[in-house]
Amino acid sequence: MAKFVGAHVSAAGGVHNAPKNAKNINAKAFALFTKNQRQWKAKPLATEHIEKFNEELEKARIEKKHILPHDSYLINLGHPEEAKRQKSLDAFLDEVERCELLGLDKLNFHPGSHLKKISEEECLELIAESMNEALRQSDNVTLVIENTAGQGSNLGYKFEHLRYLIDRSIDKSRVGVCLDTAHMFAAGYDIRTPEAYEKTMKEFDEIVGFEYLRGMHINDSKAAFASRVDRHHSLGEGHIGLEAFKLIMNDERIDDIPLILETIDDSIWAQEIELLYSFVEE
Ligand SMILES: [Zn+2]
Ligand SMILES: [Zn+2]
Repeated sequence: MAKFVGAHVSAAGGVHNAPKNAKNINAKAFALFTKNQRQWKAKPLATEHIEKFNEELEKARIEKKHILPHDSYLINLGHPEEAKRQKSLDAFLDEVERCELLGLDKLNFHPGSHLKKISEEECLELIAESMNEALRQSDNVTLVIENTAGQGSNLGYKFEHLRYLIDRSIDKSRVGVCLDTAHMFAAGYDIRTPEAYEKTMKEFDEIVGFEYLRGMHINDSKAAFASRVDRHHSLGEGHIGLEAFKLIMNDERIDDIPLILETIDDSIWAQEIELLYSFVEE
């Protein structure tokens, strides 16, 4: 078994509920928010909740390396205004600390947005500085940059953006990337046919490198190719189609990392996970 598929499950009621929810859909990996993703402040993690998290994880038989926590949507590490960027950085540092307390070795985040106030490069530089501060203030967490659809002024829609952030990092061993298939597709990277898939993945390998790939988000796209609109869809229901997911499930460059569904209908996640495993050719 080389593929580890799961979903971004709910942690409502406490972080220990995430592994429970993952087990219920037969997931072998999962993503979670370690705090309410729409609020800036959160109570510190209680020791008893951390212990319960570890217990539930064992019951679910999921390894910590197959967990991909996602940070809050409020955070913008490249915010053009210093006070607001600092607020984001403080919240990000808290997220990193929460991961460390849970013994999790990754934190998935979106690079940031220039809000049309500064250039893309200036914004990327600010993001890199924020990331370096987080690396300085932590020991074990790898910062996993997610590619984006490029909606609005969000950066991270080009592989070159991811490369830039890796290049600027003070510790490349603790920087990685997460590829979201819906975001890739909406950003203009085609993966619908074997030829298109190979071309896109070759480009990714040349610019970023598979050695930096720490996870993937497995989503179909309600938005059209190269539309730069971020709308996820259930597998096979959107513009990407099932062929791309068959190719992913048989691509050994994608072994042993969390593959996370963020598809829109959580009532069929168990079926989607089963479907993905059925694609694996012996
Ligand atoms: Zn994300
Ligand atoms: Zn995603």
